Amino acid sequence: MNRRAGIDVAIVGGAVVGAACAHALAALDLEVALIEAVEPPRWSPDNPDLRVYAFAPDNAALLDGIGIWRDVEATRTQPYRRMRVWDSAGGGELAFDADAFGRSELGWIIEHGLLVDRLWTALSTAGVQLHVPARVEALEQHEQGVRLQLDDGVRIDARLLIAADGAGSTIRSLAGLDVATHDYAQRGLVAYIRTEHAHQETAWQRFLPGGPLAVLPCSEGRSSIVWTLPDSEAARLLGVDDGTFDRELTRAFDLRLGAMRVDSKRVAFPLRRQLAQRYVQDRVIAIGDAAHVVHPLAGQGVNLGLRDVAALRDALREARARGVDFAGSQRLTRWARTRRSENAAAAYAFDGLNRLFSSDGVAPSLLRGPLLGLAGKIPVLPYALWRRAAGLE
Ligand SMILES: Cc1cc2nc3c(=O)[nH]c(=O)nc-3n(C[C@H](O)[C@H](O)[C@H](O)COP(=O)(O)OP(=O)(O)OC[C@H]3O[C@@H](n4cnc5c(N)ncnc54)[C@H](O)[C@@H]3O)c2cc1C
Repeated sequence: MNRRAGIDVAIVGGAVVGAACAHALAALDLEVALIEAVEPPRWSPDNPDLRVYAFAPDNAALLDGIGIWRDVEATRTQPYRRMRVWDSAGGGELAFDADAFGRSELGWIIEHGLLVDRLWTALSTAGVQLHVPARVEALEQHEQGVRLQLDDGVRIDARLLIAADGAGSTIRSLAGLDVATHDYAQRGLVAYIRTEHAHQETAWQRFLPGGPLAVLPCSEGRSSIVWTLPDSEAARLLGVDDGTFDRELTRAFDLRLGAMRVDSKRVAFPLRRQLAQRYVQDRVIAIGDAAHVVHPLAGQGVNLGLRDVAALRDALREARARGVDFAGSQRLTRWARTRRSENAAAAYAFDGLNRLFSSDGVAPSLLRGPLLGLAGKIPVLPYALWRRAAGLE
């Protein structure tokens, strides 16, 4: 089949990663369509989103390039200037301080809904064709591009198709991009809490035998938790009354911020590692959670997805500057190889940490406290670890 493609790029999935990708590629003067199944709800300060991100500085720079960072930052973000990581089995503590790195913050805690809202508001003037609510019903792949049939009757021909439709990606399946999945048998329980003592603009994480408990600062007196728990324990803690939950949470956090009190509903997400074997198949590529799902213990899911976007933008810009077919170029293959190896390395590193710390075994318990203490005492190590996590190298 040999057909002329209509537009340059079609992106399926318009949450943080897909919407940011639409902006980044439209800014290269590419003709872009964005197809999203669900009309994004307007964000409201009175209705905080339970999903919050520890957002890295390189991705703040990406949003700045798109032109929305100042608005997001001014609307509701909480900079975190310190990180403290320690283990329930005792031993040392890993500490990162922004001052020591010559920065005013290590990153920002931001609600998912606020990011989506601001990305979509700006899309209305970015020259992107928006198809929402709409789903892809059929995909045809041919030499020069793809043809999409949407459920609202619209047909789109594009030279490149980007799957940004999340962990359960339909496009990935239609294109035949296989994934390898590992179920952690854990859930991430998220909620807002109030704490007796101030959060000190610090992102806290305590490793417990069932999984890490992260407490992220959100506003004065208010923090968000991501508590990794074995499936059955998560189900139990979703079912207990607020008073019981508060007592168990306060104890699990070792009274580090005094008494803790839940201040929202509690929700738990299943946790898995899911890695696409390839990110590119002819003229279809996968980015964000469609390509890689990682354990949330390092708060890197959306950060890795946005790094896919920044690297893709650079690869396509270079291909266009050289006058080669951006959608069939070597650069796309190179982009896929580099991103896949970086994301897989991150996924397996989080896996290793989860295994080492979520264990009652004697050997891991003996190892981890001293390991954290040692890492904390070698000044260059926290620096290198943070720079890597923040995407600054
Ligand atoms: C408990 C928990 C805590 C987390 N904490 C952090 C954190 O602190 N920091 C961090 O960086 N990450 C974190 N993550 C991970 C983060 O949520 C994901 O990595 C991120 O949401 C992936 O973004 P995405 O845009 O690729 O996919 P998604 O957010 O899943 O978006 C996919 C989009 O595609 C749309 N869609 C789906 N199917 C179709 C279709 N067929 N047609 C059209 N549209 C479709 C959906 O409606 C949705 O809008 C956490 C995850 C969990 C579970």
